[in-house]
Amino acid sequence: MLPFKLVYSDDYYLPIGSHVFPAEKYKHIHDRLLASGTAEPSDFVTPRPATDQDVLLVHTPQYVEKLKTGTLSAREQMELEVPFSPALVKAFWLAAGGSILAADYALGDGIAISIGGGFHHAFPDHGEGFCMIHDVAIAIRHMQRDGKIRYAMTVDCDVHQGNGTAAIFAAPRTASEPLPSVPTSTLTSTKTKMRSSHTGDVFTISLHQENNYPAWKPPSSIDINLPDEIGDDDYLAWLDNALSSGLRQFDPDLLCYIAGADPYREDQLGGLSLTIDGLKKRDELVFRVAKARGIPVMVTLAGGYARDVEDTVAIHCNTVIAATEVFTK
Ligand SMILES: [Zn+2]
Repeated sequence: MLPFKLVYSDDYYLPIGSHVFPAEKYKHIHDRLLASGTAEPSDFVTPRPATDQDVLLVHTPQYVEKLKTGTLSAREQMELEVPFSPALVKAFWLAAGGSILAADYALGDGIAISIGGGFHHAFPDHGEGFCMIHDVAIAIRHMQRDGKIRYAMTVDCDVHQGNGTAAIFAAPRTASEPLPSVPTSTLTSTKTKMRSSHTGDVFTISLHQENNYPAWKPPSSIDINLPDEIGDDDYLAWLDNALSSGLRQFDPDLLCYIAGADPYREDQLGGLSLTIDGLKKRDELVFRVAKARGIPVMVTLAGGYARDVEDTVAIHCNTVIAATEVFTK
């Protein structure tokens, strides 16, 4: 039995038809975790959909109304980049409920993983980039409202910048400063931005490929704009640096790790060059740092568009294995 819970429902499946987003991956991950003996049926807990009140903690009443009544404009539907349907609305509400449940379990067990979620491109008043509503932000605001946490940190390792997260949790900005440099020549050209002081209650970190969607990247608390084709070692050095910098400035009650599989070198929508093994080391690094500081971790999966969907599934399963290795002690 795992020392933490996996939040999952077959209804995480996104009814979007044939699409670059492999909506079947959630079930494949679930099945592989069981078939490999990594997890047992009793390790899984089933979420309930978020309530509309939860969703309204992050999203505007106008946008929620449009989603509930199916009245998005043609332009809004296009921006979403997945075909709108009432069934899709239900699936996203369930993903948000799953992230809330994972956050709750994380506070008790030190870590919990939702085999879904990570829809970091959703903004308060619109969805984009396959993301209808922002499950992680909803979970954070839910936990804050219930008085279970005060401060949260998001650590977004999807290959795409967490523009929705940055916009939702934007704090008053101060002058940008470079991060302390990492002594590797390829890293010196990497532009990073960091607020010298952070006044909000959520600190956002995003490591992403600069030359990729979204074109407009609203500032996170720390943005690591990585050059194309960066490999395991440079990536891990930057992640280590960003975590150290963030945790020097901010002491969260909950760390929300967005564990995108798309920095993988075989990803169709990514331009970084991480290996499957390097991505597992990434997960281990986040988990080790959080565990050492006693910060509970809530994990969501976000993107993953490998040419072979089984690689995406393997990367996400490795996140569970990495958590098991770090938290079984
Ligand atoms: Zn992505």
